[in-house]
Amino acid sequence: MTRRQRSSRMALLLIVALLVAPVFSGCATAGALDVSSVTSGKAKNVILLIADGMGPSQFAAAWFYSNRVLGKNLRMTEVMNVGNTAYLVNDTADAMVTESAATAGQIATGQRMKTGTISMAADGRTPVQTIMEVAKSGGLATGLVTTSGITDATPAAFAAHVPHRSDEMSVAEQELKFGVDVLMGGRKQFFLPEVSAGKRKDGRNLLDEARAAGYTVVGDAEELKAAQGAKILGLFNMGNMAYEIDRVATMEPSLAEMTAKTLAFLSRNPKGFFAMIEGGRIDHAAHLNDAAGTILDTLAFDEAVGVALEFAGKNPDTLLIVTADHETAGMALIGNSKNSKGYVGMDLAAIQKAKASFEVIAGELGKNPTPQKIQQVVKEYLGIQITDDEAKTVANDTIRKLDPANYGYPYLHTLAFVLRPYLRIGWASQTHTASPLYAFGMGPGSERIKGLLHNTQLFEIMKTAME
Ligand SMILES: [Zn+2]
Repeated sequence: MTRRQRSSRMALLLIVALLVAPVFSGCATAGALDVSSVTSGKAKNVILLIADGMGPSQFAAAWFYSNRVLGKNLRMTEVMNVGNTAYLVNDTADAMVTESAATAGQIATGQRMKTGTISMAADGRTPVQTIMEVAKSGGLATGLVTTSGITDATPAAFAAHVPHRSDEMSVAEQELKFGVDVLMGGRKQFFLPEVSAGKRKDGRNLLDEARAAGYTVVGDAEELKAAQGAKILGLFNMGNMAYEIDRVATMEPSLAEMTAKTLAFLSRNPKGFFAMIEGGRIDHAAHLNDAAGTILDTLAFDEAVGVALEFAGKNPDTLLIVTADHETAGMALIGNSKNSKGYVGMDLAAIQKAKASFEVIAGELGKNPTPQKIQQVVKEYLGIQITDDEAKTVANDTIRKLDPANYGYPYLHTLAFVLRPYLRIGWASQTHTASPLYAFGMGPGSERIKGLLHNTQLFEIMKTAME
C-alpha cells in the first residue's frame, strides 16, 4: 500500500466513523449528523439567505469573477449541486415589477401583497402571520441579518407589520418587541433620538431599551467577535452598512462574519432556529449601475452562503434556502468592446481596477461636474481614461433626461453607458425588473424547490419543513 493509498484509506475510515457514531451513541451532539431528522423530512433549523437584487446576470457576473479572477467556484453552486433549484417569479397583488417590502413579505407570509407594505394582507392593513412568528411560537430562536438597514424592508417583513416600509421608526420598535434573538445590520439612526444624531422624533433611545430587555448591543467588528449573552443587537452604521468595495474590516463585519456569529448564537437553542440573512446592497449597487460594486457585494453574499453551507453540512437537519427578492436594473453582460470583431464579454481586468463604489464616485462628482472633473474622478476611482466626448456626454446626462422615471441617479447611468464598451456590462434601468430569479436549497423540505415557483410558495415549503 502506497502512502497515498494509506491516507485515502484513513480518510474513508474517518468518514465512516463520523457517519456511524451518532446513530449508535444515540445522542446527536452539535455538529454530528442527525440521521433520524433527515429521514423524517423535518427541519430543526431554517436558514433563508436572500440576495437583494440578484437576478441571473448578477449571479453570472459573480460566477465569472469568482472562477476567472479568484480561481474558485461560487459556494452557491455547491448548494445547487447537492440540493434542488427552481426558477422563481415574484409578482404582487398590484404589480408585475415589484420591490423588497412586498417580495420579502410574500416569502415571509405566503400571501400576495401590495408593493411598499410590510407583511400586510392585500388590503394593506391586516397583519399576516410571518414564518418567523411561526418559528417563535414553536420555541425556536430567531435572527435577522442584513448589510442594508435592519429596519429596511427585507428584514422588516419577517418581524414587523406596517402599512408602509418608510415607517422605519415603528419597524425598529417592533423588531425589539418581537424579541428577535439576533439583529444585525445598519441604520442605527432609527434606534436613536434626534439629540443623539438619530432620526427618532419620539425622543426614545431604543439602544438603552434593548439593553434593559437583555440585548448585548455592539457597534463594530471587534465588539461583535467578543459579544456574549442571550441576545445580540449589532448596529454597525448610522446609515446602511458599507458596500463591500468600501468596507473597512475593523469597523464593519463582513456578511460572512455576521452569519457565522448568528449561527453560533442561535444554534444554542435545543429546539432549533429560523434565520434570515440578506445581502442587502447588491440591490443598491445595481440601482447605481455600479458593476464592480454589484459583483463584490454578490461575492460577499456568496461567502455568507459558504458559512451557512458548512453549518448545514454539520447539521443536516437544517433547511437552507438561497434566493433573491427581485432583479435590479436589468443588468446584462454584453458582448463587444469598442473595436472587437467578435464577442469578448466582461473585461474582468478593468472591473478589478475599481477602487470605490459609485456612491463614493457620485459624492466626488458633486453637482454639475465639468467634463474635466468627470474624467479625473473616473480615472482616479475606476482606472479608466474616458475621452473628452464621453466626459461631455456624462456631463449632459443625456439618457437620464429621456427617461427620468427609470433613471433617478444623476450622471451615474450615463456614466455606466459610457463605460459599456470598457466593462461590457449594460443596464436597462436604475429600478427593479420582473426578471425571473433562482431559488435553491438543501436539507429537509428542499425537495419541493423545483420547476417554477411563485415566491409565496417558499413560505409553505419552510413552514411544512419546520412543523
Ligand atoms: Zn432596490
